[in-house]
Amino acid sequence: MIAPADTEVLLPVMESFYTLQGEGAYQGRAAWFIRLGGCDVGCVWCDVKDSWDAARHPLKSVRALVAEASAQPGRIAVVTGGEPLLHDCGPLTRALHEAGFRTHIETSGSAPLTGDWDWICLSPKKFKAPLPEILPLADELKVVLYNQHDFAWAEQYAAQAGPSCRLFLQPEWSRADRMTPLIVDYVKAHPEWTLSAQVHKFIHVP
Ligand code: SF4
Repeated sequence: MIAPADTEVLLPVMESFYTLQGEGAYQGRAAWFIRLGGCDVGCVWCDVKDSWDAARHPLKSVRALVAEASAQPGRIAVVTGGEPLLHDCGPLTRALHEAGFRTHIETSGSAPLTGDWDWICLSPKKFKAPLPEILPLADELKVVLYNQHDFAWAEQYAAQAGPSCRLFLQPEWSRADRMTPLIVDYVKAHPEWTLSAQVHKFIHVP
């Protein structure tokens, strides 16, 4: 049993919603997303800039977040942001596990890891590098590529990941026309990598 106090912990929540995971290893799987507010990474191409200021988002209790998620039949919860590791994710993951969820996180790895995760998707950012200790813990390395030089940058992180880490290359959305053919060629030459496309944007789900 988790401590009752844990379920009353408050987190700033930009949005939470039920959808299909659009990217990476769990692409196409039904999942409840919890987008926490707050990010200090500052990617120029960020498509959720509204998430950056945590103070702009309402505080919700862990209890309320898990109750909302439990109303849907899917039992994968994806905690994203913003940068979710700006918050102590321990109480939330404990409560999600208690309710029978798999816990997944999407993080830049730029802050110390908290929480108990079944799946860590690490997406390194140039604007604030991941902490070295998180790289061997990643289940999935998802590198968003903006230009041709980014292949070498992706390899630098793949070299620090564990042997079972899944490796994904994903074109930055606004550069997809240019980068996708380059990624296709790269994956054919380096088959340890997999192409990740943002399928949710094609099928028009959040
Ligand atoms: Fe946006 Fe994510 Fe970069 Fe933060 S880490 S600025 S939320 S893309």
